[in-house]
Amino acid sequence: MPKLSDVIAALDGLWPADRAEQWDAVGLVCGDPDAEVGRVLFAVDPVREVAEEAIRIGADLLVTHHPLYLRGTTTVAATHFKGRVVHELIKHDIALHVAHTNADRADPGVSDALAAAVGLRVTGPLVPDPDDPAGRRGLGRVGELTVPLTLADFAARAARGLPRTATGLRVAGDPEREIRTVAVCGGSGDSLFDQVRAAGVDAYLTADLRHHPASEATQHGGPALIDAAHWATEWPWCEQAAAELDQISDRHGWSLRVHVSRQVTDPWTLHASVPPAPEVPPVPEPDSAPSSSSGAPN
Ligand SMILES: [Zn+2]
Repeated sequence: MPKLSDVIAALDGLWPADRAEQWDAVGLVCGDPDAEVGRVLFAVDPVREVAEEAIRIGADLLVTHHPLYLRGTTTVAATHFKGRVVHELIKHDIALHVAHTNADRADPGVSDALAAAVGLRVTGPLVPDPDDPAGRRGLGRVGELTVPLTLADFAARAARGLPRTATGLRVAGDPEREIRTVAVCGGSGDSLFDQVRAAGVDAYLTADLRHHPASEATQHGGPALIDAAHWATEWPWCEQAAAELDQISDRHGWSLRVHVSRQVTDPWTLHASVPPAPEVPPVPEPDSAPSSSSGAPN
């Protein structure tokens, strides 16, 4: 069995920590580098349910996309849910490793997995990484459909391709609009509207779109918008990452058991759709005209 330090070195090879954003908090959160690793679990969020799943399946390493302590901390006391996660993991000898914006910018990265999940052929990054001469790394991806679809059909395909969440997808634009090219960005994507406009795509699929940027983009005749659950846009990366680690394990003869959590950890748990309006009864024909002599409107 490999040591945790061997597995982490392999993961750092896929997603080097120095490619993360300055504000990010990636890498090993807890774990003994000398501990042996036989089973690994990938998930989007380092939350209690996921830690419990790692314990249940006997994982030695949990790899999540989102950091546990993005803004740093002065305590890991179990009085807070994050400290509780740390306690539970350490108690069961489970390490926690985070690959966040370094996995976003990687090749393949989070948005490659998103593009593949909705049937796009990737043509390049939306925001290319200036340090990558091959022009494959960077934020977001631009892709194309092999056969053009209406916006309604592409949205339906995206809904089928992404994991199911309570809120589903929100779509902005004419449902009949023809879609050939699409920009995607896993996670919150409304800071990239300028780049999406410059890419000249027919649609933009991302998460966490806010009213004003979305409204301005559509008012400017920009692309159609598809807003999915944040968790759903990043979950496909877990499968992609697990497959990459599986290959590394095979190459080294590690025999790792690599799992992907299927728990929906999107915080939104219910979508209350507007019930259909009751049928308005027809206005009865007046028996004889005029019905009123007052002239007041009916
Ligand atoms: Zn995210």
